[in-house]
Amino acid sequence: MTESYDPENIFGKILRGEIPCHKVYEDDLTFAFMDIMPRADGHTLVIPKNPSRNTLDADPSDLAAVITTAQKISAAAMKAFDAPGILIQQFNEQAAGQVVFHLHFHVIPRHEGIKLKPHTGEMADQDILKLHAEKLRTAL
Ligand code: AMP
Repeated sequence: MTESYDPENIFGKILRGEIPCHKVYEDDLTFAFMDIMPRADGHTLVIPKNPSRNTLDADPSDLAAVITTAQKISAAAMKAFDAPGILIQQFNEQAAGQVVFHLHFHVIPRHEGIKLKPHTGEMADQDILKLHAEKLRTAL
């Protein structure tokens, strides 16, 4: 059985402005910001503003909004990072590797021959994340 949504999760706090992030994009239903432990340059997270743990309990209209924003971010990331490919990744519940329980899609620019860094590996330098968020916003 799926557990219920806990509003004290870290992305809930980011949405409420209680902790900082490097924002890339926002509309009525979705929000996008830099992953703090990027698996590649430009790694962005796209989340719905409405609460859900993951795709298992999300309202279909939020899923549609989030994937639409992920598509927008993907196009910007290809341009901003000169990336020939984009990985969209999403985990549902702990057994599948989910760590933060507010629905999110990872948008990760990929280049031939460059390996992905580990999931939830090293924290990136804040100045670099700021620069990458600026590059993405410019490319949107
Ligand atoms: P997962 O739930 O498995 O998709 O992993 C959570 C993701 O959120 C990981 O890629 C983390 O690097 C990322 N993350 C965790 N805390 C923050 C934060 N405060 N700001 C941005 N990204 C975060």
